[in-house]
Amino acid sequence: MTETAVNMGKSDTEVKISVKGLKKSFGDNEVLKGLDVDIKSGEVVCVIGPSGSGKSTFLRCLNRLEDITAGSVRVDQFDLTNKDVDIDKVRQHIGMVFQHFNLFPHMSVVENVMLAPVQTGRSTKEQAREIAVKLLGQVGLAEKADAKPASLSGGQKQRVAISRALAMSPDIMLFDEATSALDPEMVGEVLQVLRDLAKQGMTMVVVTHEMGFAREVSDRVIFMADGYIVEEGKPESLFGNPQQQRTQDFLAKVL
Ligand code: ADP
Ligand code: MG
Repeated sequence: MTETAVNMGKSDTEVKISVKGLKKSFGDNEVLKGLDVDIKSGEVVCVIGPSGSGKSTFLRCLNRLEDITAGSVRVDQFDLTNKDVDIDKVRQHIGMVFQHFNLFPHMSVVENVMLAPVQTGRSTKEQAREIAVKLLGQVGLAEKADAKPASLSGGQKQRVAISRALAMSPDIMLFDEATSALDPEMVGEVLQVLRDLAKQGMTMVVVTHEMGFAREVSDRVIFMADGYIVEEGKPESLFGNPQQQRTQDFLAKVL
């Protein structure tokens, strides 16, 4: 896939997520020490870095799963630090997928995917089912619609979890180590779903240990360490010619 093809249909100007001076502390522990980053519509940004560097906390600040200690996070026209902002409304535009899938075990696959659109009153059951079946088809799980999650492999469960997030028609998707809990042979099928989403122009922030994926799919890679963005850039320059010692040391360990 050429860069031109990946970027097709992406606007160069529309800033979707704007983070300024973002700080987050848990008690005395300052975990995010002032992050500045703008993410454009359709951009795929991978976040890499050592464990404990604040990657998950950063992602969680983007839909206010964490209260922000200082600075600002803006998603579209919504300032998440403004307490008057209807956060539920903002979150409906932001899908999030975690390492652990948290599917409801007593519901079938299709019911898991239908749940949020029905519960929020966004769709009727019939509409939600139709959308869910379509989404499951897109991730290669059409034939599993009526199965219970327990009968699925880890990779299949994660694809259901992605479909569930997509059922709300988000325009931003956040992934926090979506493949880290999977057996190695299942990582590829989940990354393929992310790849397809990226091609469709979804705005994505992907925390990942999959350096090959980050290099291939992202428009930009952010390297975080100790609560800072140490370095960011296009994948070919960040992986091929890292400028900071910290980045070089990290990449030497993981590549
Ligand atoms: P990463 O995802 O890069 O591994 P995290 O964002 O999970 O890093 O964690 C960064 C730091 O924040 C760690 O020191 C972690 O212990 C701390 N931390 C994260 N969440 C909480 C929390 N809810 N309460 C207290 N400390 C937390
Ligand atoms: Mg994490």
